[in-house]
Amino acid sequence: MKTYIENGTVIAWQNGAHRVIEGGVVVIEGDVIVEVGSGIAVPADGSARRIDARGRIVMPGFVNTHLHVTDTLYTKGYLEESTNISAQAKETNYGTLYRTLPAVRHAVDPEAQVIAAECAFAELARTGSTTVVELGYDYEVGGDGAIAMTEQVAQVAMATGLRCYSGPRFRAMHYGHAPGGKVWYEKYPDEGRRRFRDCVDFCTGWDGRYDGRLRTMLAPGQIDTCDPELLRETRRVASAHRLPIQVHAGQSPNEYERIRSEYGMSTVEYMQDTGLLGPDCLIGHGQVMTRDGNMASLDPSEVAALRDSQTTVVHLPWVKARRGGVINSIHKYRQLGIRQSLGTDTFPFDMFNDMRMAATVCRIVEHSVDVATSADVFAMATVGGADALGRPDLGRLAAGCKADIVMVRTDTFKAAPAYDPFMFLVLSATGDDVDRVMVDGKTIVENGRVLAVDMPAAVARLNEAARRVRSNIVT
Ligand SMILES: [Zn+2]
Repeated sequence: MKTYIENGTVIAWQNGAHRVIEGGVVVIEGDVIVEVGSGIAVPADGSARRIDARGRIVMPGFVNTHLHVTDTLYTKGYLEESTNISAQAKETNYGTLYRTLPAVRHAVDPEAQVIAAECAFAELARTGSTTVVELGYDYEVGGDGAIAMTEQVAQVAMATGLRCYSGPRFRAMHYGHAPGGKVWYEKYPDEGRRRFRDCVDFCTGWDGRYDGRLRTMLAPGQIDTCDPELLRETRRVASAHRLPIQVHAGQSPNEYERIRSEYGMSTVEYMQDTGLLGPDCLIGHGQVMTRDGNMASLDPSEVAALRDSQTTVVHLPWVKARRGGVINSIHKYRQLGIRQSLGTDTFPFDMFNDMRMAATVCRIVEHSVDVATSADVFAMATVGGADALGRPDLGRLAAGCKADIVMVRTDTFKAAPAYDPFMFLVLSATGDDVDRVMVDGKTIVENGRVLAVDMPAAVARLNEAARRVRSNIVT
């Protein structure tokens, strides 16, 4: 039986762009969209299922290309305004990255990770992310980096009904922050090779399960915690098995200087040298890719390397902004022709929030209102992510695309009058305005409620786990 979503303000994909159709219809059959447009006859004889989208924007689900569900919830209200860091770290705002974050991760036991994942995936679904890229269980976190945790977390995502790319992280060394402010690096005894093999086995064995809703990704933890040979091996495996790659890079000035001093190259040159760059490669953060953090300072050869390889930079504006950092800027990346997408990284896991921050931070940095338009930022959050994953069937409402659909309320004080749906979605809306979410044509959120998860019970479990985690944090 076909499903007809009718009477909504439809954001359709036409001729390579999102376009608004008032009173449009989206027709679904099974897990795909078969027709989008206006003037489509809706059967009234009971032979089709009908969903009335009056007072709703009908849009593609977000493709949220970078996030962590198992540990970041426990940093909420702890890491963000921490003063327990050295003067140097405060100055550069990266003590959180090298000191507080590892400390929190060490305190999170496996059970607490699964509980956090359940709440995080539910919140992602509730706020309109239909595809999520989960970069999981870093080697440093509790225990030994067992791949069983990755499998468990993937199952939690599937139970929520989401589409998920699971990228268990691996690396050769870990880092930390000495009291004097210096960042140290220490190799693991086997330089992370056992973990790497486990991750490859997971990625090749689990890719495509759950009717294709679960996909996998190779995720070298951070550009500065892997050795060159590990990165080259990552590229070989990725190409052989057609798996995407995502690496954290451009996270801090320390990282940029470390790559320079160890390998005599810039971060972009190093990524090119190790073969990472490509249309299947995502750079998580991409904020400090030059010495001064300004993308206008990229060398022309670096610009060409990023642009011509069709590598995607995944921006995570809110997590940086609340720690005092900015991306300088998504406008400059756009001008340089470099592909971009968006992610939430940590809480609140609400892509509306990150779209707003992406637009706002860019306008502040560029001293202009003519940059990072709402339509551009909305495209980053949808097709930007889909293209990064090599998925022309995601992030768009068009015939042949997956039926991953979000409906957003506009019959509210907040929304009215919604002259321009893109400006409403980026500059006013939040995840709380999401009414219904569908993945593969199945409804997973209805009336703003995640159908698969009992929220009060899950929140109670999370609060209990958080008390245990908090008491175990040693900084
Ligand atoms: Zn991250």
